Amino acid sequence: MSTETTDAWSSQTPQKTTYRVPKPKPAYYPHAGSPLYADRELYTRIAEAPRTLVEKYRCEPRSAIAVKIPAKSVFRITTPEGPQVCDLNIWNLHNPRERFWAARTRQLHSAHVSTFDRLWSNLPYLRPLVTITADSLSARHDEWGGRVHDTLGTRCDPYVDKLISGEDNDFHCHSNLTRAVLPHGLTEFDVHDVLNVFQVTGLNEYDQYFMEACPATKDDYFELYAEQDLLVAISACPGGDLSQWGWGEDSDNLEGSKMVDCCRPLGIEVYKIDDENEVLKKWKAPEVVNYKGNHGLKGP
Ligand SMILES: [Zn+2]
Repeated sequence: MSTETTDAWSSQTPQKTTYRVPKPKPAYYPHAGSPLYADRELYTRIAEAPRTLVEKYRCEPRSAIAVKIPAKSVFRITTPEGPQVCDLNIWNLHNPRERFWAARTRQLHSAHVSTFDRLWSNLPYLRPLVTITADSLSARHDEWGGRVHDTLGTRCDPYVDKLISGEDNDFHCHSNLTRAVLPHGLTEFDVHDVLNVFQVTGLNEYDQYFMEACPATKDDYFELYAEQDLLVAISACPGGDLSQWGWGEDSDNLEGSKMVDCCRPLGIEVYKIDDENEVLKKWKAPEVVNYKGNHGLKGP
């Protein structure tokens, strides 16, 4: 399929029109002291404090794992054998109705996230599930507008694959995540829009979503501080490092496949901060927003 053909099927135009309007400001402007933004001094201290590795998990290629992570832990998602994109879901361990809300996180911070950004929970909760404390890839902006750690897209799934290719494939991130959370009492309906960790994406001149090959090496990591007791699930996307991405690749028919050659494992390392009392002196467990209205509904 040629690029021209793809671009032609867009409602959007690459041409800009001058309306002589002032340059818009970000809708949620980051500033120190706002309840939305992390205290950089505190989270730098958390990132740099001595810590002990307490758990290490491996997520095999084209599969997912779900693990419990206690509040006040620091955990790293890693690419131990090189480039591999990771589809991340997070729930409050004690109440899985509270889970990651990609759209609001995108508005509060940016469409791609990095150190000091937070991953927020959905309504009626709206509090940080995690705060990002380190990112070995750091914020990136390439010549095509590609950036890393994406909230624009979502997980790959077998429904859109069937729609496009006519094939039934069982190892998309949506299915991987579904299998991983079943032992924790959750179902397919609990799987939600992901953070695509280690994934470079952007919007082209037609406002169309694109993905680039994953730049991670075996030494890269994305590190988070658990603001609550969490259930965290990661899927090692069957697209691997996305250098050969395409729909309709059947898991039973991988012979000669290029996509399977670029699939690698992921890891999760969980650390306990050695001197929690001292390091976390200024940290407070985030509370749900205390909205007392009832959406304008009046009682009898
Ligand atoms: Zn995927």
